[in-house]
Amino acid sequence: MSECIFCKIIKGEIPAQKVYDDKDVVGFLDIMPIALGHTLIVPKKHCRDVFDTPENTFSRMANAAKLVAVAVRNATRADGIHIGMNNGGAAGQSVFHAHIHVIPRFSADGFTHWPKTKVSSDELVQMGEQIQNALHNLREL
Ligand code: 5GP
Ligand code: ZN
Repeated sequence: MSECIFCKIIKGEIPAQKVYDDKDVVGFLDIMPIALGHTLIVPKKHCRDVFDTPENTFSRMANAAKLVAVAVRNATRADGIHIGMNNGGAAGQSVFHAHIHVIPRFSADGFTHWPKTKVSSDELVQMGEQIQNALHNLREL
């Protein structure tokens, strides 16, 4: 996609601090990191989000994220590593070229997790069944 900022980075049209490169995936530092070392794992072929990403491409991204997570932890001496992906505006996605965040975390970084909700055991059972049915339907496709 010609106007996509990550496609432009992949093509070398705008600069980025690349840390990882293979035939399908690149990793570069986030320009506005949660902490220095925050890396984005990005497929070279434009995909919008996880739903639009072919399974084998997503596997390649996941493998790269695992490798880069170890490197980021070693380079930053982070106490922990957060791996996440925002899919869709409602989930906080702002760049619509799929990417996995690899974020160094420190014990006192003050970054809090999203709030938890209370649900009943009935709701858990019902939702579990709905997701299992949805998976069953997907497998039949
Ligand atoms: P999202 O909110 O879509 O999950 O994450 C997009 C990320 O891309 C943000 O963390 C943002 O800081 C980063 N970002 C946006 N524009 C650029 C850019 O031009 N270069 C780099 N390296 N990162 C960017
Ligand atoms: Zn793109």
